[in-house]
Amino acid sequence: MVMMNMQTNKPTLHPLRFCAVILLLAVLLSAGCAAPELSAEARSVTVFAMDTVMDLTVYGGDDDLLTEAENMIHFLETEFSVTDPESDLSRLNAAGDFSVGPDTKSLLASALALSDRTDGAFDCTIYPVLRAWGFTSGEYRVPAEDELAALLPLVNWRKVTVSGERVTVGEGQMLDFGAIAKGYTGDRLISLFREAGAASALVNLGGNVQLLGKKPDGSLWNVAVADPFGNGYAGVLKTADCAVITSGGYERYFEEDGKIYRHILDPKTGIPADNGLSSVTVVGERGIVCDALSTALYVMGAERAEAFWRGSDDFEIILLTEDGQIILSEGLEDSFAPSGEWRDAPITVIRDD
Ligand code: ADP
Ligand code: MG
Repeated sequence: MVMMNMQTNKPTLHPLRFCAVILLLAVLLSAGCAAPELSAEARSVTVFAMDTVMDLTVYGGDDDLLTEAENMIHFLETEFSVTDPESDLSRLNAAGDFSVGPDTKSLLASALALSDRTDGAFDCTIYPVLRAWGFTSGEYRVPAEDELAALLPLVNWRKVTVSGERVTVGEGQMLDFGAIAKGYTGDRLISLFREAGAASALVNLGGNVQLLGKKPDGSLWNVAVADPFGNGYAGVLKTADCAVITSGGYERYFEEDGKIYRHILDPKTGIPADNGLSSVTVVGERGIVCDALSTALYVMGAERAEAFWRGSDDFEIILLTEDGQIILSEGLEDSFAPSGEWRDAPITVIRDD
């Protein structure tokens, strides 16, 4: 079982699963050979990048595959980091006009399309406001109302123009890829593994799980959805060949004068989104889409998120509300099982009618 402890970003292995792995290894060793369905050797690596503990496991492919994957992650981090002054993104933010590399170009094309699709609930030009709150530097503060009012007009993806490699942002605008960089990276890793001939892979980028194929024994993967109120998990999703991406305000926040300020901002107000959701999990084919949408639907709140799901056909959702309810889209009705504190939570299944 893949589990993430969101507060610490530390991956943990469920004790039962751990026993199962030991048991399986013992069986394989005593048999002296691998079972036929496990003929592809498992390789794993843990990488720390993008402020996240990343675990990659791949079955099949050659010996260099994980080194290549690791290099890819570090390369993408240096392209997309908003705090590294040498990154593609920081240079664009500093100059306002910059010829970007192919990954930035490709990520930005998706980011602009997804800003448009969500009518700016996800807006990749959020950085001036995000910075005012100190969310990227860790020097947290509550900006004054007039400070926010002056920054808000800068948050508008429609002012960004792309012509070939050249990206131009509006006066004073700055981009942030914090809500989608991991989804993009996950997509690139899954493509790398697929093209290398691997049949199965699991990429766990701290709350962003992306899967290639089924488990090597042909069964579905068990992906744990974190409990936004505790350290355990709220449920388990049985699935394959997709991205399972969760956003929640509980991941990064600060407290001032007894009030909690969370790191997902409503681009319309510049204030942390607070619409009754504690987490949003989006399940779909493309990591970058699921990543942007998990952030956007968290901003929208349950009612708008449900309507948005009804108007789309490329993802499914699990919404966990602040008051302990589970809202599932119908495509996940049979594959998600709540557990722990959420075992007896009321479940509403939303349908496309
Ligand atoms: P995480 O990266 O913690 O998994 P998300 O994918 O939801 O969570 O991304 C949150 C990050 O996205 C924030 O830390 C910030 O960098 C950026 N962000 C916050 N609000 C928005 C928004 N409304 N639109 C686009 N990006 C946002
Ligand atoms: Mg996201």
